[in-house]
Amino acid sequence: MKKITGVMVYYYFVCKRKLWFFINDMTMEHSSDLVNMGKIIDETSYSREKKNILIDETINIDFLKDWKVIHEVKKSRKIEEASKWQIKYYMWVLKHKGVAIEKGILDYPLLRKRENVFLEEEDEKQIEEILEDIQRIVNLKLPPDKVNKAVCKKCAYYELCYI
Ligand code: SF4
Repeated sequence: MKKITGVMVYYYFVCKRKLWFFINDMTMEHSSDLVNMGKIIDETSYSREKKNILIDETINIDFLKDWKVIHEVKKSRKIEEASKWQIKYYMWVLKHKGVAIEKGILDYPLLRKRENVFLEEEDEKQIEEILEDIQRIVNLKLPPDKVNKAVCKKCAYYELCYI
């Protein structure tokens, strides 16, 4: 059983092929300007808060306030669905460790916006199904199909998929 990280849940919603590349250590993200930009936002926007808390080598939380509110910092709202599930997954993991998180907040410092996210009862069932499906993808011998979406143009694996 592979440990499922928050990034894996995020990629599950962005593109399952991207998730497969990531799982198989085909990490090209370091060369992506977008990822670098994400790191810069991370380093500059919330310097006074406690951040990057790694729990169980599984989830890496951007920051956690009083063990009650989780923050996840994103640069754009383009793949908001993926961001929501990533933060719901963090809440789910912490709940299973006995830490009751009140809510998650998606922070978009470049847009000066934030959004509250809650872990609803029906989300918990869906997270279990998502984790099962991620395990299925972990075991695939070949990557899933390309998604041919706008997101591909900014994906670090673009060349691998289309050139
Ligand atoms: S380029 Fe598109 S299809 Fe290929 S991994 Fe990235 S998002 Fe998925």
